[in-house]
Amino acid sequence: MNNKERIKKSIVKTILTFGLIGLITTHVWATNSNFDFVVTPIAENVYSIVSPSFGLPTPENKGWNSNSHFVVTEKGVLLFDTGSSELIGNKIKSAIKSVTDQPVRWVINSHSHADHWLGNAAFSKSDVEIIASSQALGTMKEDGQGSMEFYSRVTKGEIGSTQLVYPTLLLTHKQKRNFGGVDVEFIFSNDGHSPGDILMWLPKQKIIFGGDVLSSDWMPIITHHGNVPNLINTLYAVAKLNPTIVLTGHGKATTVKSVIRDADLLSSVWKQVKADYENDKNPNATLLDVRAKLGPKNRLLYKDFATEIERQVKQMYKLQQ
Ligand SMILES: [Zn+2]
Repeated sequence: MNNKERIKKSIVKTILTFGLIGLITTHVWATNSNFDFVVTPIAENVYSIVSPSFGLPTPENKGWNSNSHFVVTEKGVLLFDTGSSELIGNKIKSAIKSVTDQPVRWVINSHSHADHWLGNAAFSKSDVEIIASSQALGTMKEDGQGSMEFYSRVTKGEIGSTQLVYPTLLLTHKQKRNFGGVDVEFIFSNDGHSPGDILMWLPKQKIIFGGDVLSSDWMPIITHHGNVPNLINTLYAVAKLNPTIVLTGHGKATTVKSVIRDADLLSSVWKQVKADYENDKNPNATLLDVRAKLGPKNRLLYKDFATEIERQVKQMYKLQQ
């Protein structure tokens, strides 16, 4: 495959990966041009940096379309997700400096999508441990270069140049660890949103860091390489932990209520699509049914419900094949 073909393939793959085709026609991401990395206190020693943009990278948002969160410990900062580029990673680094003198010592990449790990380049010093799952690393290696080229193209170069910096410590299963006095548990979604997603749970503070497995303002993000039944199970398992604060990969912090809401919604849509697929029903007919059944309850609960539910039904049909 020549270079042009490779880039074209990776663009299509990136759009599919982010599941953002539906969002292209909406206004949400296009109107946000704010590039201020504001640190929001969440709980004692826990902070969020929430991107005002969601969806595709643009020249205005310079590719910054996802959230990062961090925990200040006695021995350094534990950072969860690094954004989409070295430039964004550096902005995150300076934002962290506005609340603590502690250096970032540990970086977690929730998953392999570019907007959650390309900022690793800003944290590539040898004493920083970068942690992700081994499955996520596989996808990063496969898609990283193409995603970076895609981000650069759609932001018209505003994103700057970025070195691909991969995780240095790989997790293969659920595990506990103490970071500078803070107990942490890593939970696997079993590929719910994408291969090898990990969530981070602070059992004492009852805070869950969900990456793209958990959502708040928008509907749950399902992708071509995710596993919907496992995503649903993970949401119910997170709800069982009864977190007091739920931090997401996009959108503002939320509560356990929206985790249950998302699990219930996904499970109704999935059941309907599965049954209709088995009965050879047309996806458009399913969409009409789902809209009529779930629209009244959910239309006001999610941003862009009408377009998002269409994207979700179509994606679920593809996953049946
Ligand atoms: Zn993602």
